[in-house]
Amino acid sequence: MRGKLVIGNWKMNGSLDANRRLLQELLPPLAAVKGVEVAVCPPFPYLAQVCALLEGSSVALGAQNLHSAGQGAFTGEVGAGMLEELGCRYVLVGHSERRSLFGESDETVAEKFEAVLRAGLVPVLCVGETLAQRRDGSAEAVIAGQVRAVLQRVGGAGIAAGVIAYEPVWAIGTGETANPEQAQAVHRHIRALLGEAAATPILYGGSVKPDNAAALFAQPDIDGGLIGGASLEAASFLAICRAAQS
Ligand code: PEP
Repeated sequence: MRGKLVIGNWKMNGSLDANRRLLQELLPPLAAVKGVEVAVCPPFPYLAQVCALLEGSSVALGAQNLHSAGQGAFTGEVGAGMLEELGCRYVLVGHSERRSLFGESDETVAEKFEAVLRAGLVPVLCVGETLAQRRDGSAEAVIAGQVRAVLQRVGGAGIAAGVIAYEPVWAIGTGETANPEQAQAVHRHIRALLGEAAATPILYGGSVKPDNAAALFAQPDIDGGLIGGASLEAASFLAICRAAQS
């Protein structure tokens, strides 16, 4: 049986002081939440600080992005080996903000996914359709293209070593959530694409909040959540992690 996983994506938020306060409030009560793997993804400059703050807890560290090359003349970029050295277990790849604001193609995202695997870390592949794509009926094809680009590059065994996060672009940071049935239908579609990798965990992301988390996580093909805004506040992130307990 697949366990539940909840990942907080802090995006470009936080400060030394805010991170410390958030984790001081979050970690003690979170220790009582059993059977749920929890991770947080702070911005790069805070990885070392957050790694130290997480010591002694069961919360894992993740990064929000990387470059597919290990090292070299790529000013401003970060390689997977560096993230591994800083204590990361997870790395998000292909978040919709990376795809839309920074022009990442399906192929770029697949290269990044492979680079994370090469470093022995767990890539979290974000996929999802825009509102226009949902409306014009191309959502399933768009998501299939995003998943197949990675499957072609790393194969079923490669994708099964990672995690997929379905995040409808129209639900990210908008307060609009796919309802549980809509989300479940897309998760089932993604699982059907995976073939031998069908046991890959598939998270839902897009305005998950304490009041909608339990219904989403109760769906048979939803294995947890990727949480943006609600992960910046200890009480709401804690409530979401609790909702993932079976
Ligand atoms: C995200 O950025 O991955 C996300 C799901 O954001 P939010 O929860 O704020 O919609």
